[in-house]
Amino acid sequence: MYKKNNFLALITLSFFLTSLAHNLVEIIKINPNIQLDIRYATPNNFTGKAVYESPRCFLCKTTAQKINAIQKELETMGLGLKIWDGYRPRSVQYIFWNVAPDRTYVANPKKGSKHNRGTAVDCTLIDKHSNQLEMPSVFDEFSVKAHRNYASMTPAAAKNCKLLENLMIKYGFIPLPHEWWHFDDVDWRQYELLDIPFSQL
Ligand SMILES: [Zn+2]
Repeated sequence: MYKKNNFLALITLSFFLTSLAHNLVEIIKINPNIQLDIRYATPNNFTGKAVYESPRCFLCKTTAQKINAIQKELETMGLGLKIWDGYRPRSVQYIFWNVAPDRTYVANPKKGSKHNRGTAVDCTLIDKHSNQLEMPSVFDEFSVKAHRNYASMTPAAAKNCKLLENLMIKYGFIPLPHEWWHFDDVDWRQYELLDIPFSQL
């Protein structure tokens, strides 16, 4: 009995220490209206294989609160967010670096990505029927079509892209110039690079 109690105490302590070591929360627990399409948990991404163990999205708590506010404002317009990626364990960044067809679009894992801190979001806009609004390119398009200053966007794509960008800026995100879907929390420097698997969060 004494040993069993010790074991339970150890397990509790390890969960407690893991939760102290990060500040990540699951976005759908903050706002279940936010839709997810976690492509890195499927083979439908540029690596051609599932690199996440499950289709879940974690973000730093303060980043998640900003995303929650954006979702609420979008709902007043009959729109919503669909997220493709949030926190990404740093070990996955090494996989991306090794298989990327163009390293312009992938952060060097030695420095780490803001995704590895849980402070970056890849997202798009959807209507109330969950249809994606027209945007300049598909997700993870590694070409000039993904750039915010791409000159040949359709007027609808340009308008939708700007709507998303303006809202993200309003709530404290920085748009990445060459990926219209990627936004960094302005406070990203406050958070550490992490390599905790989803199953331990
Ligand atoms: Zn991204």
